Amino acid sequence: MLATLLLCCAMLSAAAIPNTPGRETTPPVRLLLFAQATPRSITISSSAPVTVAINTQEKTERKRLPRTEITATESGGMLRVGTMHATMNATAVVVEGERIIVQSEGRKREVAGSITITPAITLQGKQLQVVATITQGRYLSTALASESTSGEPFQYLVALSVLQRNYLQAHRNRHQPDADLCDNTHCQRADNIHPSKTVQRAVAAAAKIRLTEKTTDGTAYPCYYSANCGGSTLTPKQVWGSNEAGYSAVACNFCKREQWNRWQRATPATPEVEQVVRQAPPTPFISDDFKIAIGRMVGFNVVLSNTVEKIERREGKFWFSGRGFGHRVGLCCAGGMTLAKRGRLAAEILRTYFPDASVSFAAGN
Ligand SMILES: [Zn+2]
Ligand SMILES: [Zn+2]
Repeated sequence: MLATLLLCCAMLSAAAIPNTPGRETTPPVRLLLFAQATPRSITISSSAPVTVAINTQEKTERKRLPRTEITATESGGMLRVGTMHATMNATAVVVEGERIIVQSEGRKREVAGSITITPAITLQGKQLQVVATITQGRYLSTALASESTSGEPFQYLVALSVLQRNYLQAHRNRHQPDADLCDNTHCQRADNIHPSKTVQRAVAAAAKIRLTEKTTDGTAYPCYYSANCGGSTLTPKQVWGSNEAGYSAVACNFCKREQWNRWQRATPATPEVEQVVRQAPPTPFISDDFKIAIGRMVGFNVVLSNTVEKIERREGKFWFSGRGFGHRVGLCCAGGMTLAKRGRLAAEILRTYFPDASVSFAAGN
């Protein structure tokens, strides 16, 4: 949610971000870190050599250091930077290196590439903006590790990685002007700092598979996935009223026995909740607005999807029954895992959930 708000806010312009060196030809990904929080103090450390650039109003001081420990604190709309040798006011600090540890209020990220910290003004007030610039490969490994758990079947992971790459393609500059995506569920989670070898192999395998919609010149990339579709997927038109190419409503029998296919949750019938319930459409209904309104009020673990089939009032509580988890658009993750366990390949899983899109293989494979 915070990230949504960040998107709408005016941010101070960041310092120029250097491209990350590497063999990849795809452009680097600018990832907004700690998007779910309001970072006001950051610690950067590295036991390996780094290049540190501290921008002040007058000059840029650039140094190559064998290791570093830097603190950056928001201070009245300014950036207060403390190094091992001095403390100064700055407009930006940029650290480049292969193993940079970034910590803020108990949260930790590891970055190979560069980190740019600037002061920012958001709806939450004055804070720091922390943007990592990393290769696409590293971003995709981090995103896949973050949106999966160990033991999930390999071909499902490959299919998910194709969608995550498409998400990046379709949403670059979502956090413009200074970042492409954030590390939170507002975009797709990218906060796991230790992607496994399996995850890295899945990202490499996904690089050989293309998923594009058929009707335009291949510039639209179907990319959505949600945890459980509740028996059939929905289209972006049904959920958000937006016509996006490459999606279909697909019947899915593969998530029936899995968590969240059907759910029931209760919350105390406070006057505030009662008011939202009174304004809801007649059940059964599909409404992202209802899910979000209840979620903001009592937490997002009560109404788990946009699909509510029944609302009952008893014992001083509202009981909500529904199906699926999340928005139900695109790949059903629970169903995709079932198919992979039954021996289906990633391309077949994608064809199942995106029958109107085109699945192809990169040249030479
Ligand atoms: Zn985001
Ligand atoms: Zn399903």
